Amino acid sequence: MKAFNFYLDSRVIFGEGRLAELGEMKLPGTKALLVTTNGNSVKKYGYLDKVTALLAKQNVPYVLYDKIIPNPTVKIVDAGAALAKAEGCDFIVALGGGSPIDASKMIAVMVKNPGTIWDYIGGGTAKGQPVTNGAIPIVAINTTAGTGSEIDPWAVTTNEETNEKIGWGIEDCFPKIVIEDPELTVSVPPTFTAYQGLDTFFHLSECYISSLDNELDEMFALKGVELINEYLPKAVADGNDIEARSKVMFANMLGGYTQFISGCVSQHAMEHAMSGAHQDLTHGVGLLLICDEYFEFFADKPGYAEKYAKMAKAMGVDVDSLPEDKKAMAFVDALKALKKACNVADLKPADYGMSADEADDLAKLARSIMPDMFMGPDAHDVYVTSEEEVASIFRKALSK
Ligand SMILES: [Zn+2]
Repeated sequence: MKAFNFYLDSRVIFGEGRLAELGEMKLPGTKALLVTTNGNSVKKYGYLDKVTALLAKQNVPYVLYDKIIPNPTVKIVDAGAALAKAEGCDFIVALGGGSPIDASKMIAVMVKNPGTIWDYIGGGTAKGQPVTNGAIPIVAINTTAGTGSEIDPWAVTTNEETNEKIGWGIEDCFPKIVIEDPELTVSVPPTFTAYQGLDTFFHLSECYISSLDNELDEMFALKGVELINEYLPKAVADGNDIEARSKVMFANMLGGYTQFISGCVSQHAMEHAMSGAHQDLTHGVGLLLICDEYFEFFADKPGYAEKYAKMAKAMGVDVDSLPEDKKAMAFVDALKALKKACNVADLKPADYGMSADEADDLAKLARSIMPDMFMGPDAHDVYVTSEEEVASIFRKALSK
């Protein structure tokens, strides 16, 4: 059996209505930087008021930093850390989805370390210096079911000057307390429920086909794939279906676990190139624009057929009755059916300002920002692609 590492440094509090426990639990600090998005939803649906009331109940003061944009930038992270330092905050409460939680991890590091976050991130033009002073603790309150960021140590940031969007993390970035309350996801509109839930689906499926996969990862990945396939269309159709919301949120957590037991493959690097070059592009949309061509490309490559078949089976396909040479493609077809069931099968690259002309540049960018996914002795991809093959996947996907 393959060797693996498993380390989890987060206390998870999962279940309907459990946000209320923030008002009673032992918090990891005395003054919070409350980090959330610059959007309206956490305010409109009352989540921010609930969180501030629960902190007040504990007599814990906070400073609000509500400046986080969908793809958090280096400047926003550095400014958040400067505010926390000036105000003497000794822990962070992150409220929202992947962006505020990711930004919080990087702010937590920058409160205790000199310079800019770009000094520590690895890849592209970032400097990759070691973090020597750790990070302040984070309480992550998740309001979306997509990234799984709340239970893993990874963070993604965009350097707005170089268009590089890079994933990075250290063990100190694990949120110490994670609140997964499905009631906080009922306000997510149907399209975003689909984008985020399918992002989860790709974390699970990519980590499973990754060279880093192992028995423990398989357990999380196949269960998550099964749950997303069954419950995401229900959550998209009826946002108040709390059973469906709970199952999708749970799958999102499993997708977080898979990302540190295993690791995503090059599809995620390709999407980071897309949303690095097009900073308004939603991560889930970027993935949906390329996923058919991406998974189809690898279907007949050595080392993928059995895993594709197992995922198709988890999605309810009667794989055993299919001829051997049709089993892998059954997964690609099941993915197309899932997209259709979630009303996101017909996204057009042109609607997001993208075209096949960018294919060569995007392939080059993807391989430079996250090279480990593509090449080298620890390449996440089992089949190692050439730059031209990556460009060909982009070309096909972006000419739809
Ligand atoms: Zn993702």
